Amino acid sequence: MDHFPIFLRVEGRRIVLSGGGEAALAKLRLLMKTAGHITVFSADPAPEILHWAKEAKLTLIRRAMAPGDAVCAALFYAADEDDAEDARTAAIARADGALVNIVDNLGDSQFITPAIVDRDPVTIAIGTEGAAPVLARAIKADLEARLPAALGPLARIGKKFRKVAEALPFGRARRDFWRAYYFQAGPDAISGGETAVNRALDTLLADHLQRKARAGHVHFVGGGPGDPDLLTMKARRLLDEADVVIYDRLISKPILELARREAVMIDVGKEAFGPSTPQETINNLIVEHAQKGAQVVRLKSGDATVFGRLDEEIDALDAQQIAWSIVPGITSASAAVAEIGQSLTKRGRNSSVRFLTGHDMKGFADHDWAALARPGEVAAIYMGKKSARFIQGRLIMHGADRHTAVTVIENASRPEQRILETTLDALPNALAAAEMSGPAITFYGLAPRAAADALHRHTPDAQPTLHRHETMTQEAL
Ligand code: SAH
Repeated sequence: MDHFPIFLRVEGRRIVLSGGGEAALAKLRLLMKTAGHITVFSADPAPEILHWAKEAKLTLIRRAMAPGDAVCAALFYAADEDDAEDARTAAIARADGALVNIVDNLGDSQFITPAIVDRDPVTIAIGTEGAAPVLARAIKADLEARLPAALGPLARIGKKFRKVAEALPFGRARRDFWRAYYFQAGPDAISGGETAVNRALDTLLADHLQRKARAGHVHFVGGGPGDPDLLTMKARRLLDEADVVIYDRLISKPILELARREAVMIDVGKEAFGPSTPQETINNLIVEHAQKGAQVVRLKSGDATVFGRLDEEIDALDAQQIAWSIVPGITSASAAVAEIGQSLTKRGRNSSVRFLTGHDMKGFADHDWAALARPGEVAAIYMGKKSARFIQGRLIMHGADRHTAVTVIENASRPEQRILETTLDALPNALAAAEMSGPAITFYGLAPRAAADALHRHTPDAQPTLHRHETMTQEAL
């Protein structure tokens, strides 16, 4: 972040602008929404500026700027649309101590003006560090369409009620009250004007004052494979409401960003074969926070019910009679199979699919290898990188075809996704050569769709191929 967004108090302060053409008009339209005192320097102002000056919306001085003209100004805009003149006036303003913006000159500006969605007092500022003004405008248009016009009045009426609402205990109780106001009681009452909204606020407060403190609750939420777009709407909402989020190592940064700013974020990352937070400690943490009445989101990668040690955590909660629920997520097998354009099951090929783990708490995990070794079987192997050679050995020992297709998808759904297309025979060496450091899922019995045909014409010593995300989408999907 090269530019840090803040809301600057300009009430009663000077804002100076040099220029009288189109660029000046665009900025002035925005600046006149503020409670700042605007002074415009222009020898040749557009008719609109003359008009605004007459209406006392700004002070117009009909000459070029001179040293001292920006004294005590909070902000200065150089909007002369002339590089030399902009540089000259900007230097004056800087010497006078104002923060300087030169229109269409990011490099020499000290601040940028964001795209603004105005539901005063609710103001949304959108910035792209000057990289993509078109994008900022598109986001603005999107928000404009989505936010109810009444948001401004509701916020203004709500603000006056803040002191009264302090009768509710700080924290969740108060948040629940305001949420109910902004998303239900307020919008329902707004057509009746301010009196109706105030009446609704009184009723709502009386109702909330009577409520008992909400009991703690734990939501086991599936965070999906990493792409935040693959979260369920329920997961998003719960993240937005959580008091405490307890998350695993594989939860991606963009997903953590969705949690409420004030939420307590606890990382209990577990690394396969590596240092880890003992399960017991995790159980205790969840119980402890729920007992304090917190709404806890226990965020697990993929789907919480797949290789997530969910039952141990549920047992710990049941022992303390703490309420819990499960919110399903997209498991890595589903995300990864989508990336190779295949189905997990297919008529005439496999009518069942196995989810296996490469290792369990005792080491490499054992399975019904003989059943899996039969032609046409498909398995999604989780945590299968380190155990690749073991799995290969067991399958071949039980008669599996060495040429069976195997595909490893690393970081499925994330920008760093890689796809390794190989065979059972070549798997361990291909994996070692690929040096995968991210989470990876191994499909036994599945090749990427476009490559499936080529595989039928397979030559035993074919080289394994490694796709990056982009090439994969072109070649295979
Ligand atoms: N509950 C999770 C699995 C947890 S076990 C789920 O439903 O997906 C952790 C394993 O999941 C990793 O070792 C890896 O095999 C797999 N995994 C998790 N995220 C992944 C991703 N983005 N891409 C590929 N595999 C992933």
